[in-house]
Amino acid sequence: MAGGVSRPSPVSTGLACRCPRCGRGGLFSGFLTLVERCEICQLDLRAADSGDGPAVFVIFIVLAIAVPFAFSIWTWFGWPAWLVMLLTSVLVLGGSLGLLRPAKAILIALQFRHRPQDSFRQNGGSSRGVGDH
Ligand SMILES: [Zn+2]
Repeated sequence: MAGGVSRPSPVSTGLACRCPRCGRGGLFSGFLTLVERCEICQLDLRAADSGDGPAVFVIFIVLAIAVPFAFSIWTWFGWPAWLVMLLTSVLVLGGSLGLLRPAKAILIALQFRHRPQDSFRQNGGSSRGVGDH
């Protein structure tokens, strides 16, 4: 590839759970387990670490939706509390599991865009703080 290649958007690659550099290779080998290396551009993802950031964002987003949802259906429809709790639990569980992968992928893509020297090795080259011996 020649220089000047446009970089994919961190949000679009994150939502698609794709490699932050090329936007084509898959990012996950398991539910939240990252691949070691992008299958397309060979970006080393072993040192990429989003920490607890994705979980925190997902918790805030899901609860901001679930709490008004629970109070709304309880007051508008008068459903029993056990049914409201059951529906809200399904919403929280489904929303959390559904948003966690894209949230992690977006944070990794943002790290790659703004601080690539801290978390990524470029094409097998060395990078500070990665721990090659
Ligand atoms: Zn790639």
